[in-house]
Amino acid sequence: MNSFEYKRAEQEQAAIDAIVSGKDAKFLAGGTNLIDLMKNGVQTPSRLVDINRVPLTNIEAIPGGGLRLGALARNSDTANHPLVRKNYPLLSQAILSGASPQLRNLATNGGNLLQRTRCPYFMDPAFPKCNKRSPGTGCGAREGIHRRHAILGASEQCIAVHPSDMAVALAALGASVRVRGPKGERMIPIADFHRLPGTTPQVDTNLQPDELILSIDLPQSPYAAHSHYLKIRDRASYDFALVSVAAALEMQSGSIKSSRIALGGVAHKPWRAEKAEALLAGKQPNAATFEAAATEALNGAQPLKQNAYKIELAKHTIVRALTLAGGVA
Ligand code: SF4
Repeated sequence: MNSFEYKRAEQEQAAIDAIVSGKDAKFLAGGTNLIDLMKNGVQTPSRLVDINRVPLTNIEAIPGGGLRLGALARNSDTANHPLVRKNYPLLSQAILSGASPQLRNLATNGGNLLQRTRCPYFMDPAFPKCNKRSPGTGCGAREGIHRRHAILGASEQCIAVHPSDMAVALAALGASVRVRGPKGERMIPIADFHRLPGTTPQVDTNLQPDELILSIDLPQSPYAAHSHYLKIRDRASYDFALVSVAAALEMQSGSIKSSRIALGGVAHKPWRAEKAEALLAGKQPNAATFEAAATEALNGAQPLKQNAYKIELAKHTIVRALTLAGGVA
């Protein structure tokens, strides 16, 4: 591990000031991903700004509706919070399907959004080709092993997938990320927070390097009664998704009034299937309806040789997740 300067900030402004004044400085919260990347030599910040004492751990109702999740609330505390369990069970399920209990006890909400891909070519600097780690070197996965990689929204430069489960549920629930930097505070809709790789796969998000995540804000949700997060993985105990689906239905007189479908494990960002959602509006919740939506959701998928199986897997996972969400199994 490279040597680095350590600073502790106890207030938002002090944390931002310490980032702005430090070349290649990074915020340190739970550190469950960043410290691994530093040990491997994938990231080499010259300064860590420890923000664990900044008061951003509250989970509280937003006046007028919705819920504010503090950026530094731990994933376990968020998943088990009574208001999350009652009004956003989809989010609770998604968080609890990620990582291990020990990691969830340490990992924060803001850090969860900022975790980096687990593409093995990215995680190990012994592999020379990785455009995300070293722009312009090529993509080792595209030419090598890519069984776990993207089938939607990828580019010639990068086919990595985003590893978060929590972010998939947040995409389905239409969350926003509240951030603050030297220019002040702003809201980033979750759909615009993570980026597709394009020609700059080294940039994962639209958060600026000097911006601090303050909270994740959830709008009021009509989906609490009918939602399900389904994660398919190689190892049930502890693994990243091959495919995951956050499915939510708003029912009215036995028909689907509105729906949300977001996929994980298939793209560089949580993948919202809005055309598939539109197909469900006004329909009866049955197998034929759900299969039509699943087919639409995978329209445009561009698999490589080793990950073509994800198309069928994703379709089946969507149908199953919608079936469980609708209580029609
Ligand atoms: Fe790097 Fe992306 Fe290719 Fe993986 S998929 S080797 S992260 S460029």
